Amino acid sequence: MIHDWKMELYWRLPIFLQEAALSLYARRLDRLYYGDGYEGWRQKFNGWRRWSRSEAEAWQNQQLQTVIELAARRVPYYREKWRGLDWKSVRSAKDLYILPLLDRQSIRQNEKAFIAGGLNPESLWLEKTSGTTGTPLKVYWAPSTLPKWAALKDTMIRSAVGVDNGQPRAMMGTRPIMRGRADTPPYWRYNRTWKQLYLSSYHVSQATARLYAEAIQRYGSEWITGIGSALAALAECALQSGVPETPLRRAIVSGDTLLPAMRSSIESFFKCKCFDHYGQNEGVAMAMECLHGKMHVIPGVGIWEILREDGSPCAPDEVGEIVGTSLINDAMPLIRYRLGDYAAWAKDQFCPCGNQQPVIKDLEGRMDDYVITSDGRKIGRISSAFKYPTIHSAQIVQDRPGHAYLLVRPGEGYRSADAKAVSGDILERIGAFDLQILEVPEVPKTQQGKAVLVVRLSERPDMRPAYDNILRNQTVCFNAA
Ligand SMILES: [Zn+2]
Repeated sequence: MIHDWKMELYWRLPIFLQEAALSLYARRLDRLYYGDGYEGWRQKFNGWRRWSRSEAEAWQNQQLQTVIELAARRVPYYREKWRGLDWKSVRSAKDLYILPLLDRQSIRQNEKAFIAGGLNPESLWLEKTSGTTGTPLKVYWAPSTLPKWAALKDTMIRSAVGVDNGQPRAMMGTRPIMRGRADTPPYWRYNRTWKQLYLSSYHVSQATARLYAEAIQRYGSEWITGIGSALAALAECALQSGVPETPLRRAIVSGDTLLPAMRSSIESFFKCKCFDHYGQNEGVAMAMECLHGKMHVIPGVGIWEILREDGSPCAPDEVGEIVGTSLINDAMPLIRYRLGDYAAWAKDQFCPCGNQQPVIKDLEGRMDDYVITSDGRKIGRISSAFKYPTIHSAQIVQDRPGHAYLLVRPGEGYRSADAKAVSGDILERIGAFDLQILEVPEVPKTQQGKAVLVVRLSERPDMRPAYDNILRNQTVCFNAA
């Protein structure tokens, strides 16, 4: 499942062998993730769920000093980059500003320069990130850390909302478990080891939704997880084509921005609460929504910073870029890593759920979501304009500097004035810009099935075919101005 030739081989197999391959792969992962130390970590993390804010901070600061020392002395990249910097004075999260920020591009140029000296990359576990854009990033983990990482996710994400991996579950992720051009069911593969029904994110339609729902019931899935927009697409197609609701215990989504209309479709069709989760394979900053709908930071993963463009920390309720420092991956320590996502510290930090860890809000948008004006400026942070209640989903498709289409998929109670309001809101931020509104039945996603708010066609030749038809058959189109 890691290399293309393996995928090619997998696709050639008959379905029963594909399922056997998935189950075997899962067994291999289980040996790594549920090996030595898993139980101990699980018990420990269960206790951490009742940690006070100051207990978590004290633990984080102690871990931080170890990570900084390791990075400064044994990681080639930091040894070079921090030369002359007083890294020894970084004793707590608030001292981190002393160190430079790290972006994805610097890692991609030489991933191995981030591996702690003395470790052989061949002996490490390689995770690839599933970035929305560009090539994935390679992240190395020490196999001995994997049980800790697994225990952390099991306790802080799944148990925290009352489900666990022992229960049969359905999943809609980015893996192409069947070829894209395949048009006959089954649109899923069953992984026996994990009792996991892996549903294809790429074959959902009003015609197939019933089959998906029947499979979820037949395989006894008790909860569902995956990309928010994929789950929402399934729920919507099912509701629109009259498929009976399919009750589950929980839905846990991550991977793209969960707009209110998506959440409401998921909750209506699966008759359960939908929880948003923020995290990444790099393991630097993680948060999970609680039963009261608040996003709590998970301190065991890493230290969060939310920063303004000039690098200074944001005030409460002020949206800024998320920067994470990993406290869990000591084979490849990522320090002050710019995640390119946005959030704000909530002003109201109280939550009745009992979890005392920091609450974040307005988690949304990729930093990549910017448009380019005719004078070459990049204008980002326009995603909040999309949160209009009667608009199901929307996207800006930029075909040239200074000009873009605003694709709008109408939701319940929609009037064309609503799209004008959204475009007005966007234009207020951008200034002089030619933005044409286009009402569409569906907003295209990336090839990985992720919803993105801005597509700059010049940088996404892979997505161009998806727009050719839309832009050719402009049925409803008027200038926003
Ligand atoms: Zn809470």
